[in-house]
Amino acid sequence: MANRKFIVGNWKMNGLHDQLSDIGDIAAIASEHKDIDVAICPPTTLIAPAAEKVPDFMIGAQDCHSAANGAHTGCLSADMIRETGALLSILGHSERRADQHETDADVKAKAEAVHAAGLGAIICVGETEAERDDGKAVEVVCGQLEGSFPEEPSADWLTIAYEPVWAIGTGRVPETSDVEEMHAAIRNKLGKLMGDGADAVRILYGGSMNGGNAAALLAVPNVDGGLVGGASLTAEKFGPIIEAAA
Ligand code: PEP
Repeated sequence: MANRKFIVGNWKMNGLHDQLSDIGDIAAIASEHKDIDVAICPPTTLIAPAAEKVPDFMIGAQDCHSAANGAHTGCLSADMIRETGALLSILGHSERRADQHETDADVKAKAEAVHAAGLGAIICVGETEAERDDGKAVEVVCGQLEGSFPEEPSADWLTIAYEPVWAIGTGRVPETSDVEEMHAAIRNKLGKLMGDGADAVRILYGGSMNGGNAAALLAVPNVDGGLVGGASLTAEKFGPIIEAAA
């Protein structure tokens, strides 16, 4: 049986309080499509006001520290994130793996912290263009998945996002046959890592998804939704992606 589709907007470092109205507009569109799940992960500053503005809509964070508290200036724990009103966190986004040097072990620890706090986790994996050109894309992505994979995995709280680094923010999208191959490889790897229950873990595609290509990407076997950056910032752009998933 196909998994319920999950469409997640990653606002990255975009959005001031004025943009709360966009989250309201997006939540209104999502509320018309009860057969799918939709979330927005705004910057941390907007989590609490967004959760207050649209209490029935899923708001998430973009990162979380693995420690419960302590000397980690500028960081937020999973309990703090939960307290803001977030229900999940993106973890191990390629921008953080590159800019903040996050390792697979860091991502695994973060995922376990998020789970312990009762939040959902979206673990991101993806190859660089050089790795794809070298024919190593599947090996790299499955290696990241294994290294980042948390204890006590379950579809109740865990989602995987396949995001080829070279497709993020570039307007370039892999061939659907390449997406199909990678999502099948991830599904197979999930089976090895967690056995029963692997089929229910949702695997999102991310990288330049937009209203024009969403339907084709979401129709690929084992693509259970999308993680969307630039095209999630307004209802005008994100609405068609939600509708393509519904
Ligand atoms: C992302 O950063 O998660 C992403 C998919 O970005 P974009 O949709 O802008 O490529």
